[in-house]
Amino acid sequence: MPLKFYETYQKELVEFKPIKKGEVRLYTCGPTVYYDPHIGNMRTFLFYDLLQRALLFLGYEVKRVMNITDVGHLISDADEGEDKMEKGAKLSGQTVWQVAERYTNVFKEDIAALNILTPEVLEPATGHVPEIITLVQKLLDKGFAYETDEAIYFDVTKFPKYESLTGQKFTDMLTGAREEVVTKNSKKHPADFALWFKTVGRFAGHAMRWPSPWGQGFPGWHIECSAISRAFLGQPFDIHAGGVDHLFPHHPNEIAQSEAAFGLPLANYWLHGEFLLVAGERMGKSLGNLFTLRDLRKNGFTPLDFRYLVLTAHYQNKLNFTWPGLQAAARAYQNLKSEIENFPGAGVADQAYLNQFTKHLENNLDMPGALALLWQLVKDKKIEGAAKRATAAEFDKVLGLNLAHLKREPIPEEVLALV
Ligand code: AMP
Ligand code: ZN
Repeated sequence: MPLKFYETYQKELVEFKPIKKGEVRLYTCGPTVYYDPHIGNMRTFLFYDLLQRALLFLGYEVKRVMNITDVGHLISDADEGEDKMEKGAKLSGQTVWQVAERYTNVFKEDIAALNILTPEVLEPATGHVPEIITLVQKLLDKGFAYETDEAIYFDVTKFPKYESLTGQKFTDMLTGAREEVVTKNSKKHPADFALWFKTVGRFAGHAMRWPSPWGQGFPGWHIECSAISRAFLGQPFDIHAGGVDHLFPHHPNEIAQSEAAFGLPLANYWLHGEFLLVAGERMGKSLGNLFTLRDLRKNGFTPLDFRYLVLTAHYQNKLNFTWPGLQAAARAYQNLKSEIENFPGAGVADQAYLNQFTKHLENNLDMPGALALLWQLVKDKKIEGAAKRATAAEFDKVLGLNLAHLKREPIPEEVLALV
């Protein structure tokens, strides 16, 4: 069976064909490093990890790039509000650079605790300002962007495909904007988005700033992904993944910038992972309903209990976080480990089970199916214990639950004596 994904813009399951045989170039949108990442963010990063691990398991070489947003992401994705980094700095009394460093480190610690493979390229936006400036200049030169007193904006009406990418007509976007009264700035069209902000007006005190042909300023949020992906993966590359919040405006904006500048598609396949919810609402900083890995630990859970929980839901389905739900996942995970550690070592993996596991991965990353298969294997009376252990270790290359080297802990002397 060929590998199939649900491709966002084709709106159906499609067969994956890499540009270069045996190789996948993968770009995943990264964190904004201004606060402690929550387990909702981690669900998306786990989705990227499972995608990467599945591709590796299926025999592809994977070149993975992720950005770190450390400048230019405003409180509203639509160019409104202050820069999240500046907000983080004000709240903590640190400089923006200290905030970026601190939360980049927290992000790295959290993904390591969840057994998420670190992307081989993990690059901050602030490390790529020259490429960003070159790209903005190219868009100006080609007539896709315009300069105002406050910013350089991308002119969405010059890129007709923007309507189909967002599922909205330019005229409807105008009406929507009038209803929300978001026409405070000098944009020609309300859907135009900032490529570069000048450090004037509301941003006069902005700490992060660079010289540019348009005076001092800083990049908008979307442009970093176009610049970083092009620098490390070229264009087009194979797969671009993100959370469903990126369906608008971030990904249409990335596509508009890159395609307008270079006349080529940005990526061939677009995949989007669904949200982690709390009481039916998206977990997020603005709603104040978030939990971090530290909160989980305080309540007696491990990061891998959460990884197990995430595996029980398909990436395209919403997952509602509850403490009893996490408790159930932790118990199931504990039981799974107890079963596997009792099996003897030195076996050979069962090929029929490996084939079925592969089918689940190829079927749009069916992780709940893969996990159910692992339980079927563990309970299968026809398979020897040593083969079960070896097969589980193979599955774990994707599941990432530390199942490969489980050892039964010896019963302490005192306990034996009591017995
Ligand atoms: P941010 O650090 O705010 O840029 O978010 C980092 C990533 O977390 C983005 O790719 C979002 O798609 C993702 N994200 C944010 N909230 C959630 C959530 N509740 N569930 C799943 N992913 C989320
Ligand atoms: Zn991005």
